Amino acid sequence: MAAAEADRDPPSALRAEFLNFSAKDTAAVWASASDLQQDVYHHLALYVPRIFCLGPNVGGAGAEQREEQREEQREELACQLLLLAPLEWLLLGEEPSSGLAGLQEKNQPSHLCGHVFRVGEPTYSCRECAADPTCVLCMQCFLGSVHKDHRYRMTTSGGGGFCDCGDAEAWKKGPYCQKHTPKESSRYSEEDPVAQLPPEMVARSCSIFSILLKYAVDMLTWDQEDQLPAGLQPPERGDTYYCMLFNDEVHTYEQVIYTLQKAVNCSQKEAVSFATTVDRDGRKSVRYGDFQFCEQAKSVIVRNTSRQSKPLRVQVMHSSVVAHQCFALKALSWLGQIIQYSDGLRRILCQVGLQKGPEGENSSLVDRLMLNDSKMWKGARNIYHQLLMNSLLMDLKYKKVFAIQFAKNYRRLQTDFMEDDHERVVSVTSLSVQLFTVPTMNYERLQNDYVKDDHDREFSITDLSVQMFTVPSLARMLMVEENLMTTIIRTFVDHLRHRDLQGRFQFDRYTAQQAFKFGRVQSLIGDLKYVLISRPTEWSDQLRLKFLEGVDAFLELLRCMQGMDPVVRQVGQHIEMEPEWEAAFTLQMKLTHIISMIQEWSSTDERVLIEAYKKCLSALSQCQSGLADGEQPISLSLAGHSVDTFRYQVSQDKVSIHLPLCRLLAGLHVLLSRTEVASKFPEQLPLGELSPPLLIELPLRCLVLCAQVHAGMWRRNGFSLINQIYYYHNVKCRVEMFDKDIIMLQAGASMMDPNHFLMIVLSRFELFHIFSSADCRKRYREANKDVVQQNNTLIEEMLHLIIMVVGERFVSGVGQVEPFDEVRREIIHQLSIRPMAHSELVKALPENGNKETGLERVIDTVASFRKPGVTGRGLYELRPEWNKHFNLYFHHYSRADQSKAEEAQRKQRRQNGEDTACPPPPPPPLCPLFGSLVNLLQCDVLLAVEGAVLQWAVEPSGGGWTESMLQRVLHLVGMALLEEQQQLENSSTEDDISFNYICKITRPGEAPSTSGSVLALLESLQNAPHLEVHKDMITWILKMVSNIKTMRERTSSNSSVTVSPGPGGPEEVVRDKDKAERKRKAEMARLRREKIMAQMSEMQKHFINENKELFQQSLEELEASTSAAAETSSPSLDQSSVSQVCVGPRRPGGVEHRQLVTCILCQEEQEVKGHGRAMVLAAFVQRSTVLSKNRRRVLPGSDRDPLFMNPDLALGIHTASCGHIMHATCWQRYFEAVQLKEQRRQQRLRGHTSYDVENGEFLCPLCECLSNTVIPLLPHTHSPDHSVIHTSLETWLKTTSQQIAALHAAHRKQESEGAAEGVEPPVPEGFIVDFVPPKPFSSSVSEMITTFSMSTYKVGLKVNPNEQDHRVPVLSWSTCAYTIQAIERLLMDEEKPLFGSLPCRQDDCLSSLCRFSSSCWTVAPPTTVHKHFIGLLAALVPDSQVENTPCILDIDMFHLLVYSVLSYSSVHSLDQSGRSVVDSAHLHLLHLVTVAHMVQILLSSTTEEVCMEQDSGGSEEEELTCQLYDSLRTHLDGVLPEVSSGWQLWRCVKAGVTPFLRAAALFFHYLNSTAPPADLLVPGVGQWEALCSYLSLPSNLLQLHHSHRAVLEPLIHSWCRHPGVHQTLRGGGVIVRFPRESNRLIELPEDYSVLINQASSFTCPRSGGDKSRAPTLCLVCGCMLCSQSYCCQTEVDGEDVGACTAHTFTCGAGLGLFLRVRESQVLFVAGKTKGCFYPPPYLDDYGETDQGLKRGNPLHLCPDRYRKIERLWRQHGVAEVIGHAQEANQTLVAIDWQHL
Ligand SMILES: [Zn+2]
Ligand SMILES: [Zn+2]
Ligand SMILES: [Zn+2]
Ligand SMILES: [Zn+2]
Ligand SMILES: [Zn+2]
Ligand SMILES: [Zn+2]
Ligand SMILES: [Zn+2]
Repeated sequence: MAAAEADRDPPSALRAEFLNFSAKDTAAVWASASDLQQDVYHHLALYVPRIFCLGPNVGGAGAEQREEQREEQREELACQLLLLAPLEWLLLGEEPSSGLAGLQEKNQPSHLCGHVFRVGEPTYSCRECAADPTCVLCMQCFLGSVHKDHRYRMTTSGGGGFCDCGDAEAWKKGPYCQKHTPKESSRYSEEDPVAQLPPEMVARSCSIFSILLKYAVDMLTWDQEDQLPAGLQPPERGDTYYCMLFNDEVHTYEQVIYTLQKAVNCSQKEAVSFATTVDRDGRKSVRYGDFQFCEQAKSVIVRNTSRQSKPLRVQVMHSSVVAHQCFALKALSWLGQIIQYSDGLRRILCQVGLQKGPEGENSSLVDRLMLNDSKMWKGARNIYHQLLMNSLLMDLKYKKVFAIQFAKNYRRLQTDFMEDDHERVVSVTSLSVQLFTVPTMNYERLQNDYVKDDHDREFSITDLSVQMFTVPSLARMLMVEENLMTTIIRTFVDHLRHRDLQGRFQFDRYTAQQAFKFGRVQSLIGDLKYVLISRPTEWSDQLRLKFLEGVDAFLELLRCMQGMDPVVRQVGQHIEMEPEWEAAFTLQMKLTHIISMIQEWSSTDERVLIEAYKKCLSALSQCQSGLADGEQPISLSLAGHSVDTFRYQVSQDKVSIHLPLCRLLAGLHVLLSRTEVASKFPEQLPLGELSPPLLIELPLRCLVLCAQVHAGMWRRNGFSLINQIYYYHNVKCRVEMFDKDIIMLQAGASMMDPNHFLMIVLSRFELFHIFSSADCRKRYREANKDVVQQNNTLIEEMLHLIIMVVGERFVSGVGQVEPFDEVRREIIHQLSIRPMAHSELVKALPENGNKETGLERVIDTVASFRKPGVTGRGLYELRPEWNKHFNLYFHHYSRADQSKAEEAQRKQRRQNGEDTACPPPPPPPLCPLFGSLVNLLQCDVLLAVEGAVLQWAVEPSGGGWTESMLQRVLHLVGMALLEEQQQLENSSTEDDISFNYICKITRPGEAPSTSGSVLALLESLQNAPHLEVHKDMITWILKMVSNIKTMRERTSSNSSVTVSPGPGGPEEVVRDKDKAERKRKAEMARLRREKIMAQMSEMQKHFINENKELFQQSLEELEASTSAAAETSSPSLDQSSVSQVCVGPRRPGGVEHRQLVTCILCQEEQEVKGHGRAMVLAAFVQRSTVLSKNRRRVLPGSDRDPLFMNPDLALGIHTASCGHIMHATCWQRYFEAVQLKEQRRQQRLRGHTSYDVENGEFLCPLCECLSNTVIPLLPHTHSPDHSVIHTSLETWLKTTSQQIAALHAAHRKQESEGAAEGVEPPVPEGFIVDFVPPKPFSSSVSEMITTFSMSTYKVGLKVNPNEQDHRVPVLSWSTCAYTIQAIERLLMDEEKPLFGSLPCRQDDCLSSLCRFSSSCWTVAPPTTVHKHFIGLLAALVPDSQVENTPCILDIDMFHLLVYSVLSYSSVHSLDQSGRSVVDSAHLHLLHLVTVAHMVQILLSSTTEEVCMEQDSGGSEEEELTCQLYDSLRTHLDGVLPEVSSGWQLWRCVKAGVTPFLRAAALFFHYLNSTAPPADLLVPGVGQWEALCSYLSLPSNLLQLHHSHRAVLEPLIHSWCRHPGVHQTLRGGGVIVRFPRESNRLIELPEDYSVLINQASSFTCPRSGGDKSRAPTLCLVCGCMLCSQSYCCQTEVDGEDVGACTAHTFTCGAGLGLFLRVRESQVLFVAGKTKGCFYPPPYLDDYGETDQGLKRGNPLHLCPDRYRKIERLWRQHGVAEVIGHAQEANQTLVAIDWQHL
């Protein structure tokens, strides 16, 4: 590094020159120069290489990075002073800052906002007012616009693009926000802004701009590595080079990093930094030195990356070239800034940029930039794109000129772009596959986003198209003048070169390269969409001409698609290779909107429509000219009709799903039908070119193909066909595929004899023979079962098709409906399946080019909204009055939808006591062009088919018939009857009625198979026992028949009087009559149900008998949860008068009842005994920072001494349990089995479980709760011996200090191996220092105690187990204290009573935890525990032999209390005098610690300003508090301020000490199994007194101090003398105040876009002001992180992890809660391997979350959901949620959580 520093010396030498340089003088010289360019170039040649790029820019961390930053600043400064300042002087003719200010003042600002979006910045589009969805507002403009109260969409920008505020064309209304509303002087647009500038400035700026712009263009497009353009050669040429690495989109990060390490011999960190910069800026120098040196690195890189692919692009460039390129970028930025000051300057720059060069056409500077776009690196492109946006696109006049230029260059630009080999591949969320390219996480989202769905192009100039093509007037102009539509389509067709013999596209055997190119080509479709997105309101002849020319080109394109990817049925063998189908469908999908848009354009002008129709028709007839050739027609006859058709079978010949020409024609046909011409002069329509049979042929084949696939005839063709059929019906494609095929059949059928139509349909379905002769049918019945079944399905499908052809009339133009009705019908049918969320509905409806479904207009008319709770989402329910519109054969139902909807309908009808028939709903009338469709219903062939099916139903035998067939026939009959009824109702005379279905069905059948009339058959079916389900429907039909008959009689007898009975009338009668029948049925159903219930309960009994234990146990569990409260509360109710205490010798005897528990594994019952078989509770121990009051503190390492807990509670150990009990042995066996299974699993499927067996994790065998250890169950403590006298505090302290002295002596003796020195202190009577108490526990219980101790030790300190470590018992106590504190906080904040409100699993957990920790000393070495006690007591009672005792401000008193109480037992066990009980010591310890805590509170709280004065004379408490405080002040020599208000002080003490007392009460309650007092079982008043008396403390706590002054005063004095107290109070440390406030998650804004905005301005902290790709917010501390990115990876325990995981280790001890802002997703992370996503607390107005921000509905905070997440965190439940989530998602692709 030193050498490099020396090399870099010149800049400092230069500095002297800088000082002497005068920008003003230089400008003056230039001003009088004869050749300004020459002078400026000379200046640049001299200075640029001496300012920029002086040596290696090493990326990396620490010092180097700082050095680099300093270097950058130096460059920046020198560039401004030496290069830009003279230009500014020259331009302005005065001091630049004042000159610019003056310019700005005179400037009339544009009313265009033009704010250029940063990556990730929120953009808003109004769904009501935006001209199209590409029109967006920035946040600021949006908030000041009228649209914020409209229905809007919010998205995040992919970068680039600008705010459209102020563009009148972009908005239907409200184009200006408050800020950009034009002032009254609206001359702006007319007047030339240049005229406002002084002429000499115009001239000067003209020449400066042209010199500088030319310089920049020359440099950026410069392709020589060693030479500079003329005039720029430096006076003295250095000999330094750069090895410049460029990005591509082929190589991965890993490859690049690896290669760089090898090639330039850098560390991995540096390599990562290089790679990141290359990715960001598009290039980066990786080596600096002489030519040889750089060339060598180049060859290594090329060699290393050329193996599988094209090598990385590397250039060795002379340093002066690089320097000039750097300055070129600076110059462009400078130009961009200067023109912001004045619209006049902006226009001058535009003029300069677009001025034709000497080479003529396409030679302006802007042209040169555009045409070299694909050759420039990313950083350069970004900067000049910005400039274009700031200049040309912001100037109304030049925007147009530029647009024309852009359109002229369009074809070439696109071609360059296509040939550009940069590839972008979508990847999954893990970084390991992240490519050496732009962000990938957002890709999918962006892809769905209309505005940015050409994400590929964000760095390409072609991306600017959206800025121009979507402006309607520009688009129109470009279309007319530059023939843009045709150009785009032609360019597109040119690039898809693969064709088959017929000229159709062929995507077979596409190579990756071609597929990639295909992907790029698709962006052209995006441009086409931009051009067509707004329909013209008026047409000029020119526009008509150019549009129709475009249509011609488009038809050419469709012709290449017509019939592509044909399939042939595979017989015998399966296909060998799945044929390629996706490319064709992608194309179809992309074009769907274009096809729709072309139809929409056509629909706005009758002349255009007719012309387009003619063109389409002739294109189609050219395609189909060969259809009938060479095939012998065959003749069909049935029911007295006959027709000729082709000999063609779908099951044997080629068939294609792609028929875009037919479908476009169908669409245009419908549009024609809506015109006036169609209704008035249909003969003028150009319908004749193709015969109807030809029109229907191909769509019919396609539909038959679907039917055959359903019937299982195409099984051997594999998944590719299944997928195609799926997409054919899918909502994304169906509008321009399936729907249009149905329309084409409708169009064809309406122009044909219905009998002929049906015969052709029968023939294409290959069913003709079945209906044409009865024998044939019989023969098939005997034949192959498969064939019979196939035919059954085909018949069903065919009947369904006929239902659709006649019945689907909800397209405006087919039926007399409005688009509104069509959407409403879709919604009704979706909601008939089940209630749905808004997003589900949106997904089920087709979107138009504007991403609108029309849903919003309709939804409230048919559905009611049900709000979501804390989980789930809001749902829409169909209102019952719309049920009558339900059509079982709705054409968009899949079979599954259909059966679900049918079931739901029948259920509903039964509930309402109605019949269960689902008759067809009344259809809307047809348009005239389609009017004759109804005749299908009454034609002879259909009647014959109906008759045949009914006949089979009457005499069912074998498998040749299905109920579905019958159901469909009944539906068809119903439709016909409705039709007839409607005609009767709407006509005045009988002559109008062409429909006479009833008459026909009463005639005996003519078809060979039927014997009776259709009606007779129906009547005989009415009572058929095997058709119970259809009975209601048949009844409905027969009633209809009789109604219509009556109506006919009435009309014929009295045709002048039209007494319309109305549709409801006759049906009402039907209903009444049927009621009795239904009642009978309902009764029968009830009896049946009862019988079944009886059987069930019998079975249940049997089952219970067999599994007795199991049931018992679960019952017990149920009881336990309620009894936990009941058991403990009952005694207190009895003794409510007696004061209940939980600590000290006065405490009542523990509840001595036997504890019986059942093992969940072996179901055996077991009593909990010290000497019995050990029983354990599954538990989960984790480190926690939930209670931390100091998140900035570096978490203590594994070598800390945990004896004292700091009051900031920065790191604790939390234990939770699901409450499930096992035998220790049963658990061990279970855990071994889990381990074994895991070992086996890992061989197959490495890692990827929700639990980490190696860390002792397992799932509770009963509830699958995540656990990592077990807590042993121990018996209750014994009740104290009430005969022993309770000694006073003074005596106890004296005895204890004697005991301690004796222990000290013994320890000394032990350590010096018996050689005793000094005087033996007197040993109190009965105290035996080496007494070994009898073991209270069996070995199995002891073993479990050790197990749990080790777990807390291991987790708490992050160390390996070591039973000998003296810290083991401390950590066991610690988890007890911490868990109690955490629970106390929760109860407090949720305002729940202290006792009785915990769920029983927590209750069980706490009680076993307390009893365990009181016994864990028995497994530790006695000396260790004694030492702990001595150390703990020394904090309160000074002990000269103990060193390094912390001051009382650094001790959490509750932890001290718990530790000292628990460790005392071991000291007490040595006292064999029988004269003391352990309980009195507990009480004394409590007294001592409480006093210490009060002192602590007084010391810490009064440094605050105490302002409130309370006048009233003090109570006893207040006086005593004052006394204590005054004595503290004396001890501390006035460090404490004077406070005279006793009331204030007492208030502080009382509030501060309460959490401690509550936690102490919980602790002793569980420790001693004492019943709580009644007052603490309810929330609210009387808590203080009850609490104090339960703890055996006076309710005036100060008495503790006052009545023992003599003993305590010296202690208090010694506490205050501790140097730490002084230091802390004088501001030398963090003071924790009491009561400690509970931690909450950070506050989130109500409006989600605020967060997005915040995140968009967040920059990565490591890569110098770069935008972060995945900004992620820590919900615990509010820190914003740069997640999921190489730049912010950090090493934790020898492994690189992402920013989130790294953060959890400092903020959450390994656990973290985050909000991924761009994804709107909550992320939970635990440790390095585990994590899950969780629904965010933000909902849209429909009660749904938007994970991934895909929908763009405005999102608002749902406080309830956020509180739920917060509770989860505070309850330490996050790890468990992660466990469950991972368990549930095991099949999904693993996500590398640690990389986030
Ligand atoms: Zn704006
Ligand atoms: Zn605005
Ligand atoms: Zn609006
Ligand atoms: Zn067991
Ligand atoms: Zn469990
Ligand atoms: Zn944090
Ligand atoms: Zn970063």
